[in-house]
Amino acid sequence: MVGSALLCSVPSLSFAQSAFDEQFVAYPSYNGNDLELLLSENSTTFKLWSPKAEGARLNLYDSGHNGAPYSVVEMTPIPSEGTWTATIPQNLTGKFYTFRILKDGKWLDETPGVWAKAVGLNGKRAAVIDFDTTNPEGWADDKGPEVKNFSDVILYEMHHRDFSQHPSSGIANKGKFLALTETGSLSPNGDATGIDHLKELGITHVHILPSYDYNSVDEGNLQLNQYNWGYDPLNYNAPEGSYSTNPSDPATRVREMKQMIKALHDAGIGVVMDVVYNHTADNDGSNFELTAPGYYHRHWDSGNYSDASGCGNETASERQQMRDFIINSVKYWADEYHIDGFRFDLMAIHDIETMNEVAAELKKINPSIFVYGEGWTAGDSPLAPERRALKENVAKMENIAVFSDDLRDAVKGHYTDVADRGFATGKPGLEETVKIGIVAATPHPQVDYSKGNNSKFPYASSPEMIVNYVSCHDDLCLTDKLRKSMAGEPEENMLAAAKLAQTIVFTSQGTPFMFAGEEIFRDKQGVHNSYKSPDSINAIDWNNKSNYRDLFNYYQGLIALRKAHPAFRMTSAEDIARHLKFDKIDSAKTPNLISYSLKDHANGDDWNEIKVILNGNAGKAEVKVPKGEWKIVAEDGKINPQGLGTSKGGKLSIAPYSALILAR
Ligand code: CA
Repeated sequence: MVGSALLCSVPSLSFAQSAFDEQFVAYPSYNGNDLELLLSENSTTFKLWSPKAEGARLNLYDSGHNGAPYSVVEMTPIPSEGTWTATIPQNLTGKFYTFRILKDGKWLDETPGVWAKAVGLNGKRAAVIDFDTTNPEGWADDKGPEVKNFSDVILYEMHHRDFSQHPSSGIANKGKFLALTETGSLSPNGDATGIDHLKELGITHVHILPSYDYNSVDEGNLQLNQYNWGYDPLNYNAPEGSYSTNPSDPATRVREMKQMIKALHDAGIGVVMDVVYNHTADNDGSNFELTAPGYYHRHWDSGNYSDASGCGNETASERQQMRDFIINSVKYWADEYHIDGFRFDLMAIHDIETMNEVAAELKKINPSIFVYGEGWTAGDSPLAPERRALKENVAKMENIAVFSDDLRDAVKGHYTDVADRGFATGKPGLEETVKIGIVAATPHPQVDYSKGNNSKFPYASSPEMIVNYVSCHDDLCLTDKLRKSMAGEPEENMLAAAKLAQTIVFTSQGTPFMFAGEEIFRDKQGVHNSYKSPDSINAIDWNNKSNYRDLFNYYQGLIALRKAHPAFRMTSAEDIARHLKFDKIDSAKTPNLISYSLKDHANGDDWNEIKVILNGNAGKAEVKVPKGEWKIVAEDGKINPQGLGTSKGGKLSIAPYSALILAR
């Protein structure tokens, strides 16, 4: 979300919460799997957690968005659990419901609760559906790809509309979950698009921008072609309606999301969900606030909402009921939808303990599930910095990775200054920060962390804690960043720099991550915060695939190289320190040049030695490579893991903005 890499300066707060928030510690919590709705053959039981409510009512409806309730039922308190309950002696499948609570003598607005697993139009009312009817054929045997090590994962971040909305996608269900179920779709020039494109490219996992039910798009007016990234959560446990073919039918969105997941799994591709438990779209009007006022959000001593999300509020993961909510929610997505990974938005708003429980619980369900997130906040928080799931605290988190803003900002230039260049576009002085990315922020005898731009110490104790990238949905995408920062240079230089930048990402230790469409030089017309920009800005033009075929081929080759060679995917800091050796280059005399070897069959690689030489200069560079018989794997914007030819080593020249990769 907006505000990436805001490593806020934080006052040293020794307490975990504000004085205002202390009142919530005494609340009883309730963690049963019957929260809000439990359906049986002859009865339907509702149970709402709301410890301080003075009364609670259940409204039953025939429709998801029209008409008055056909029944209003007073709920009965169970004070030891902090819940309110009502049982209707009939199976209510097909009906809708909301809750209302009495606070300070006033009935608050209706809410579908916080555990609605199916919802009607715009998520206003929860729905009772039979989940068995939502499973596509073969669902019982559906499984995502097995992941041995997280460094084997290759992430591709996409948004439903970006990926399929453009007329050139050739996809029928544009902007929908079903877009990713369509095979055989072609661009006007006959290039594969959609799921076939993903297979051709070779990525292992798609990371899809928020797909839970969010607030901003009016599901009743889809003809308006509204666009939003979806970082405005409404119902955390139900899919977004605008991505379904019928948002009024609660089962359709569930079924179609599962069909998408099944199709991706059948193609061997895992599905990562972008989850935003850190804040709610609305403050007082959020489902959290309407069920248990005050409890789920953090506040300052004044009682005002604190706002580490930059979106008006932040949630309180350190409180038991909120912690359980997050854990049970991801477990639910993993169980019911077979989700293969979770990307936590502004993860540092959550506390370390919660994140560790998240990862541990998910591991029990499926050890292949990958958990990673943004190790920063977008504002100050009452949660003490040492408790935050910050990038700098990642070593305290087991089986969780964080994005490396080190590599990102050093390779392409800082995100806050569009004209700023980086290592790959000729700016000197960033070599050491790039090296921090190459070794995945692990301790390395040849990396001087004191020269790091973003981080000053090796914060990762394993490469599996790091996700490397140069761009994502936030800020200028790579193409736009190159166009702004390299203005005046020919496009061929920008394409060369794009290849070099991604070569650094894909050959570095850690897990590589790329933004959808950059493999065909997609741009967003210079819009850096396109969260609600129209399709004309956000949609990927698939004509680019033939226009930039050479770039696509290069990405394909990079991915194939990484997949074929475990040396790029080491799994321990010790292995990296032992096998990854930087060549001595005086960056004061020869800036923007990095050369290193992956030695001695690193991580069981076939190749004894792989040499990676990165030239970020606008001109040619020269390096000395030990004499011998080398296979040329990448040179001057071309790449082929099988080899492009051979070299005898010695004094070699490297083209401007390019990588030379040799192997023997
Ligand atoms: Ca919605």
